Amino acid sequence: MSDDHEFALRCPVPLPPGDTVLLGHGSGGKLTAQLIRDLFVPVLAGDGSELARLGDAAVVVVNGTRLAFTTDAFVVAPAFFPGSNIGELSVNGTVNDLAMMGATPLFLSAALILEEGLPLRDLGEVVASMAEACRRAGVTLVTGDTKVVERGSADGLFVTTSGVGVIPDGVEIGPERARPGDVVLVSGPVGSHGVAVMSRRAGIEFEAKLVSDTAPLTDLVRAMIAAGDVRCLRDATRGGVASVLNELAEASSVSITAVETDIPVLGPVRAACEMLGLDPLYVANEGVCVAIVAPEDAEAVLAAARANPHGEHAAIVGSVGEGPPRVLLRTGLGATRPLIMLAGDQLPRIC
Ligand code: MG
Repeated sequence: MSDDHEFALRCPVPLPPGDTVLLGHGSGGKLTAQLIRDLFVPVLAGDGSELARLGDAAVVVVNGTRLAFTTDAFVVAPAFFPGSNIGELSVNGTVNDLAMMGATPLFLSAALILEEGLPLRDLGEVVASMAEACRRAGVTLVTGDTKVVERGSADGLFVTTSGVGVIPDGVEIGPERARPGDVVLVSGPVGSHGVAVMSRRAGIEFEAKLVSDTAPLTDLVRAMIAAGDVRCLRDATRGGVASVLNELAEASSVSITAVETDIPVLGPVRAACEMLGLDPLYVANEGVCVAIVAPEDAEAVLAAARANPHGEHAAIVGSVGEGPPRVLLRTGLGATRPLIMLAGDQLPRIC
Protein backbone atom coordinates (compact mmCIF):
# COMPACT_ATOMS: atom_id res chain seq x y z
CA MET A 1 0.00 0.00 0.00
CA SER A 2 1.35 3.43 -0.93
CA ASP A 3 2.53 5.71 1.83
CA ASP A 4 3.09 8.54 -0.55
CA HIS A 5 -0.07 10.63 -0.45
CA GLU A 6 -0.17 13.96 -2.18
CA PHE A 7 -2.14 15.56 0.65
CA ALA A 8 0.42 14.67 3.29
CA LEU A 9 1.48 18.28 3.69
CA ARG A 10 -1.69 20.03 2.61
CA CYS A 11 -2.19 23.48 4.13
CA PRO A 12 -4.89 23.28 6.83
CA VAL A 13 -6.31 26.74 6.05
CA PRO A 14 -9.80 26.16 4.64
CA LEU A 15 -10.90 27.36 1.22
CA PRO A 16 -14.30 29.03 1.05
CA PRO A 17 -16.85 26.37 0.06
CA GLY A 18 -17.52 26.47 -3.69
CA ASP A 19 -19.63 24.18 -5.86
CA THR A 20 -17.58 21.03 -5.44
CA VAL A 21 -16.93 18.69 -2.55
CA LEU A 22 -13.82 19.57 -0.57
CA LEU A 23 -11.79 17.25 1.65
CA GLY A 24 -13.05 19.40 4.51
CA HIS A 25 -16.59 18.12 3.89
CA GLY A 26 -15.33 14.84 5.36
CA SER A 27 -13.53 16.41 8.32
CA GLY A 28 -16.25 15.93 10.89
CA GLY A 29 -16.02 19.68 11.49
CA LYS A 30 -17.83 22.76 10.25
CA LEU A 31 -18.14 21.80 6.55
CA THR A 32 -19.45 18.32 7.41
CA ALA A 33 -22.01 19.90 9.73
CA GLN A 34 -23.09 22.29 6.94
CA LEU A 35 -23.51 19.42 4.46
CA ILE A 36 -25.65 17.50 6.96
CA ARG A 37 -27.73 20.55 7.90
CA ASP A 38 -28.21 22.00 4.41
CA LEU A 39 -28.43 18.88 2.23
CA PHE A 40 -28.81 15.53 3.95
CA VAL A 41 -31.31 16.31 6.71
CA PRO A 42 -33.73 18.51 4.68
CA VAL A 43 -33.71 16.26 1.60
CA LEU A 44 -33.70 12.88 3.33
CA ALA A 45 -35.68 13.32 6.51
CA GLY A 46 -36.58 16.84 7.64
CA ASP A 47 -36.53 18.65 10.97
CA GLY A 48 -37.73 16.68 13.96
CA SER A 49 -36.71 13.36 12.37
CA GLU A 50 -34.41 10.86 14.05
CA LEU A 51 -31.78 11.72 11.40
CA ALA A 52 -31.97 15.40 12.40
CA ARG A 53 -31.18 14.50 16.00
CA LEU A 54 -27.59 13.81 14.88
CA GLY A 55 -26.81 11.22 17.54
CA ASP A 56 -23.84 8.88 17.18
CA ALA A 57 -26.47 6.28 16.39
CA ALA A 58 -30.17 6.55 15.60
CA VAL A 59 -32.59 5.28 18.23
CA VAL A 60 -35.53 3.35 16.77
CA VAL A 61 -38.22 1.51 18.66
CA VAL A 62 -39.33 -1.95 17.48
CA ASN A 63 -42.02 -3.77 19.46
CA GLY A 64 -41.19 -1.68 22.52
CA THR A 65 -37.44 -2.39 22.34
CA ARG A 66 -35.15 0.59 21.76
CA LEU A 67 -32.55 -0.24 19.15
CA ALA A 68 -29.48 1.86 18.38
CA PHE A 69 -28.54 1.71 14.69
CA THR A 70 -25.52 3.27 13.03
CA THR A 71 -23.27 3.15 9.98
CA ASP A 72 -19.76 4.42 9.29
CA ALA A 73 -17.37 4.42 6.31
CA PHE A 74 -13.61 3.96 6.81
CA VAL A 75 -11.15 5.40 4.32
CA VAL A 76 -8.07 5.81 6.52
CA ALA A 77 -4.78 6.25 4.66
CA PRO A 78 -2.61 4.30 5.03
CA ALA A 79 -4.84 1.32 5.82
CA PHE A 80 -2.10 -0.10 8.07
CA PHE A 81 -0.85 2.34 10.71
CA PRO A 82 0.99 2.09 14.04
CA GLY A 83 -1.02 -0.01 16.46
CA SER A 84 -3.80 -1.17 14.15
CA ASN A 85 -5.39 -1.20 10.69
CA ILE A 86 -8.61 -0.29 8.88
CA GLY A 87 -10.22 -3.63 9.83
CA GLU A 88 -10.08 -3.23 13.59
CA LEU A 89 -10.90 0.48 13.23
CA SER A 90 -14.05 -0.27 11.24
CA VAL A 91 -15.39 -2.60 13.93
CA ASN A 92 -14.45 -0.43 16.93
CA GLY A 93 -15.79 2.73 15.27
CA THR A 94 -19.27 1.30 14.81
CA VAL A 95 -19.26 -0.47 18.18
CA ASN A 96 -18.38 2.85 19.83
CA ASP A 97 -21.12 4.79 18.05
CA LEU A 98 -23.60 2.27 19.49
CA ALA A 99 -21.98 2.45 22.93
CA MET A 100 -22.31 6.26 22.87
CA MET A 101 -26.10 5.83 23.00
CA GLY A 102 -25.72 3.52 25.99
CA ALA A 103 -26.54 0.53 23.79
CA THR A 104 -25.17 -2.99 24.02
CA PRO A 105 -23.76 -3.60 20.52
CA LEU A 106 -24.98 -6.89 19.03
CA PHE A 107 -24.75 -7.29 15.26
CA LEU A 108 -22.57 -5.77 12.55
CA SER A 109 -22.50 -5.70 8.77
CA ALA A 110 -19.43 -4.95 6.67
CA ALA A 111 -19.15 -3.78 3.07
CA LEU A 112 -15.71 -3.92 1.46
CA ILE A 113 -14.71 -1.86 -1.58
CA LEU A 114 -11.49 -3.37 -2.90
CA GLU A 115 -9.15 -1.95 -5.50
CA GLU A 116 -7.91 -4.30 -8.22
CA GLY A 117 -4.33 -5.22 -7.33
CA LEU A 118 -4.75 -5.15 -3.54
CA PRO A 119 -2.53 -7.94 -2.16
CA LEU A 120 -4.72 -10.75 -0.82
CA ARG A 121 -2.32 -10.97 2.11
CA ASP A 122 -3.29 -7.40 3.11
CA LEU A 123 -6.97 -8.25 2.78
CA GLY A 124 -6.46 -11.36 4.90
CA GLU A 125 -4.79 -9.32 7.61
CA VAL A 126 -7.60 -6.75 7.62
CA VAL A 127 -10.28 -9.44 7.85
CA ALA A 128 -8.43 -11.22 10.68
CA SER A 129 -8.29 -7.91 12.57
CA MET A 130 -12.02 -7.44 12.06
CA ALA A 131 -12.70 -10.93 13.45
CA GLU A 132 -10.54 -10.29 16.51
CA ALA A 133 -12.16 -6.88 17.11
CA CYS A 134 -15.66 -8.43 16.89
CA ARG A 135 -14.66 -11.09 19.40
CA ARG A 136 -13.28 -8.49 21.79
CA ALA A 137 -16.33 -6.25 21.50
CA GLY A 138 -18.77 -9.15 21.84
CA VAL A 139 -20.48 -8.49 18.49
CA THR A 140 -21.28 -10.83 15.63
CA LEU A 141 -20.76 -9.90 12.00
CA VAL A 142 -23.86 -11.28 10.34
CA THR A 143 -23.93 -9.88 6.80
CA GLY A 144 -21.67 -8.20 4.28
CA ASP A 145 -20.91 -7.23 0.71
CA THR A 146 -17.83 -7.09 -1.51
CA LYS A 147 -17.23 -4.87 -4.53
CA VAL A 148 -14.06 -4.50 -6.60
CA VAL A 149 -13.18 -1.38 -8.58
CA GLU A 150 -10.50 -0.89 -11.25
CA ARG A 151 -6.93 -0.07 -10.35
CA GLY A 152 -6.79 3.66 -9.54
CA SER A 153 -10.48 3.93 -8.61
CA ALA A 154 -9.88 3.42 -4.89
CA ASP A 155 -6.89 3.46 -2.59
CA GLY A 156 -6.40 -0.18 -1.62
CA LEU A 157 -9.60 -0.73 0.29
CA PHE A 158 -12.48 1.10 1.95
CA VAL A 159 -14.72 -0.50 4.58
CA THR A 160 -18.23 0.43 5.64
CA THR A 161 -19.71 -1.12 8.75
CA SER A 162 -23.20 -0.82 10.19
CA GLY A 163 -24.29 -1.96 13.60
CA VAL A 164 -27.32 -2.62 15.76
CA GLY A 165 -27.52 -2.71 19.53
CA VAL A 166 -30.15 -2.72 22.25
CA ILE A 167 -30.53 0.18 24.71
CA PRO A 168 -31.30 -1.18 28.18
CA ASP A 169 -34.39 0.14 29.96
CA GLY A 170 -33.70 3.25 31.99
CA VAL A 171 -30.69 4.36 29.96
CA GLU A 172 -31.29 7.86 28.56
CA ILE A 173 -28.35 9.38 26.75
CA GLY A 174 -28.56 12.03 24.08
CA PRO A 175 -26.63 15.00 22.76
CA GLU A 176 -29.44 17.37 23.86
CA ARG A 177 -29.40 16.36 27.54
CA ALA A 178 -26.58 18.59 28.90
CA ARG A 179 -27.70 21.31 31.31
CA PRO A 180 -26.02 24.14 33.22
CA GLY A 181 -24.03 22.89 36.20
CA ASP A 182 -23.08 19.57 34.55
CA VAL A 183 -19.51 18.34 34.51
CA VAL A 184 -17.48 17.44 31.41
CA LEU A 185 -15.23 14.35 31.43
CA VAL A 186 -12.76 13.02 28.88
CA SER A 187 -12.12 9.27 29.10
CA GLY A 188 -8.47 9.26 28.08
CA PRO A 189 -5.50 11.08 26.59
CA VAL A 190 -6.38 12.81 23.32
CA GLY A 191 -4.73 12.90 19.90
CA SER A 192 -3.06 9.48 19.81
CA HIS A 193 -4.88 8.02 16.79
CA GLY A 194 -4.46 11.01 14.51
CA VAL A 195 -0.83 11.48 15.39
CA ALA A 196 -0.05 7.76 14.88
CA VAL A 197 -1.62 7.79 11.41
CA MET A 198 -0.07 11.13 10.51
CA SER A 199 3.40 10.09 11.58
CA ARG A 200 3.23 6.99 9.36
CA ARG A 201 1.87 9.04 6.48
CA ALA A 202 4.55 11.69 6.78
CA GLY A 203 7.22 9.00 7.16
CA ILE A 204 8.33 10.42 10.49
CA GLU A 205 9.71 8.10 13.15
CA PHE A 206 9.47 9.40 16.69
CA GLU A 207 11.71 8.13 19.43
CA ALA A 208 8.74 7.23 21.60
CA LYS A 209 6.36 4.78 19.98
CA LEU A 210 3.10 6.43 18.94
CA VAL A 211 0.20 4.04 18.45
CA SER A 212 -3.47 4.47 17.67
CA ASP A 213 -5.81 4.34 20.66
CA THR A 214 -8.47 2.34 18.77
CA ALA A 215 -10.52 0.33 21.28
CA PRO A 216 -14.09 -0.77 21.96
CA LEU A 217 -15.55 1.45 24.68
CA THR A 218 -18.59 -0.67 25.53
CA ASP A 219 -17.41 -1.87 28.95
CA LEU A 220 -16.10 1.57 29.88
CA VAL A 221 -19.44 3.18 29.03
CA ARG A 222 -21.41 0.50 30.85
CA ALA A 223 -19.37 1.11 34.02
CA MET A 224 -19.78 4.88 33.76
CA ILE A 225 -23.56 4.64 33.26
CA ALA A 226 -23.87 2.29 36.24
CA ALA A 227 -22.01 4.83 38.42
CA GLY A 228 -24.25 7.84 37.82
CA ASP A 229 -26.34 10.03 35.55
CA VAL A 230 -24.39 10.25 32.29
CA ARG A 231 -26.38 12.67 30.15
CA CYS A 232 -24.33 12.88 26.92
CA LEU A 233 -21.62 10.71 25.41
CA ARG A 234 -19.71 11.17 22.18
CA ASP A 235 -16.59 9.47 20.88
CA ALA A 236 -14.11 12.16 19.90
CA THR A 237 -13.27 10.91 16.41
CA ARG A 238 -12.81 13.29 13.46
CA GLY A 239 -12.63 16.90 14.56
CA GLY A 240 -11.36 15.80 17.97
CA VAL A 241 -12.52 16.84 21.43
CA ALA A 242 -12.95 20.47 20.35
CA SER A 243 -15.51 19.61 17.66
CA VAL A 244 -17.39 17.19 19.93
CA LEU A 245 -17.73 19.84 22.65
CA ASN A 246 -19.13 22.23 20.04
CA GLU A 247 -21.64 19.63 18.80
CA LEU A 248 -22.86 18.93 22.33
CA ALA A 249 -23.07 22.65 23.21
CA GLU A 250 -25.12 23.20 20.05
CA ALA A 251 -27.44 20.22 20.58
CA SER A 252 -28.13 21.13 24.23
CA SER A 253 -28.12 24.96 23.77
CA VAL A 254 -25.56 25.39 26.55
CA SER A 255 -22.09 26.87 26.88
CA ILE A 256 -19.16 24.66 27.82
CA THR A 257 -15.91 25.82 29.42
CA ALA A 258 -12.95 23.46 29.17
CA VAL A 259 -9.66 23.81 31.03
CA GLU A 260 -6.77 23.19 28.65
CA THR A 261 -4.31 21.93 31.25
CA ASP A 262 -6.85 19.38 32.56
CA ILE A 263 -7.23 17.67 29.16
CA PRO A 264 -4.87 14.68 29.16
CA VAL A 265 -2.38 14.43 26.28
CA LEU A 266 0.46 11.89 26.33
CA GLY A 267 3.91 13.53 26.30
CA PRO A 268 5.04 11.97 23.00
CA VAL A 269 1.74 12.93 21.35
CA ARG A 270 2.13 16.51 22.51
CA ALA A 271 5.69 16.62 21.19
CA ALA A 272 4.62 15.14 17.84
CA CYS A 273 1.74 17.63 17.58
CA GLU A 274 4.14 20.51 18.13
CA MET A 275 6.44 19.15 15.45
CA LEU A 276 3.62 18.51 12.96
CA GLY A 277 1.83 21.79 13.71
CA LEU A 278 -1.31 20.09 15.03
CA ASP A 279 -3.56 21.07 17.93
CA PRO A 280 -4.27 17.84 19.91
CA LEU A 281 -7.77 19.11 20.74
CA TYR A 282 -8.68 18.81 17.04
CA VAL A 283 -6.91 15.50 16.36
CA ALA A 284 -9.03 12.35 15.89
CA ASN A 285 -9.29 9.71 18.60
CA GLU A 286 -10.66 6.19 18.20
CA GLY A 287 -10.81 5.09 21.83
CA VAL A 288 -11.70 8.28 23.72
CA CYS A 289 -15.10 9.69 24.56
CA VAL A 290 -16.41 12.91 26.02
CA ALA A 291 -19.06 12.51 28.72
CA ILE A 292 -21.33 15.13 30.25
CA VAL A 293 -22.42 14.05 33.70
CA ALA A 294 -24.75 15.31 36.43
CA PRO A 295 -22.60 17.26 38.92
CA GLU A 296 -23.50 15.14 41.96
CA ASP A 297 -22.35 11.97 40.13
CA ALA A 298 -19.19 13.33 38.50
CA GLU A 299 -16.70 11.89 41.00
CA ALA A 300 -18.36 8.46 40.98
CA VAL A 301 -18.46 8.33 37.17
CA LEU A 302 -14.82 9.44 37.01
CA ALA A 303 -13.80 6.71 39.45
CA ALA A 304 -15.72 4.10 37.43
CA ALA A 305 -13.99 5.24 34.25
CA ARG A 306 -10.56 5.12 35.86
CA ALA A 307 -11.17 1.55 37.02
CA ASN A 308 -11.51 0.48 33.35
CA PRO A 309 -8.37 -0.18 31.26
CA HIS A 310 -9.62 2.20 28.55
CA GLY A 311 -10.36 4.95 31.06
CA GLU A 312 -7.39 4.96 33.42
CA HIS A 313 -6.39 8.49 32.36
CA ALA A 314 -9.96 9.84 32.50
CA ALA A 315 -10.23 13.39 33.81
CA ILE A 316 -12.73 16.11 34.60
CA VAL A 317 -11.96 18.78 32.03
CA GLY A 318 -14.72 21.36 32.20
CA SER A 319 -18.22 22.42 33.06
CA VAL A 320 -21.50 23.34 31.45
CA GLY A 321 -23.05 26.80 31.74
CA GLU A 322 -26.07 28.68 30.41
CA GLY A 323 -26.39 29.22 26.63
CA PRO A 324 -25.95 30.62 24.03
CA PRO A 325 -24.21 27.56 22.59
CA ARG A 326 -20.45 28.04 22.52
CA VAL A 327 -17.27 26.48 23.85
CA LEU A 328 -14.62 28.40 25.75
CA LEU A 329 -11.13 27.20 26.56
CA ARG A 330 -9.29 28.41 29.65
CA THR A 331 -5.70 28.24 28.46
CA GLY A 332 -2.59 27.32 30.39
CA LEU A 333 -1.75 31.02 30.58
CA GLY A 334 -5.03 31.81 32.34
CA ALA A 335 -6.70 33.48 29.34
CA THR A 336 -10.10 32.37 28.03
CA ARG A 337 -10.65 32.01 24.29
CA PRO A 338 -13.38 30.56 22.08
CA LEU A 339 -12.74 26.94 21.10
CA ILE A 340 -14.41 26.78 17.71
CA MET A 341 -15.43 23.78 15.67
CA LEU A 342 -12.81 22.41 13.29
CA ALA A 343 -12.84 24.47 10.08
CA GLY A 344 -11.30 22.88 6.99
CA ASP A 345 -9.46 19.63 7.60
CA GLN A 346 -6.09 19.39 9.23
CA LEU A 347 -5.96 15.60 8.75
CA PRO A 348 -7.98 14.20 5.83
CA ARG A 349 -8.68 10.43 5.73
CA ILE A 350 -7.84 9.88 9.36
CA CYS A 351 -10.51 7.18 9.87
MG1 MG B 1 -19.32 8.96 16.89
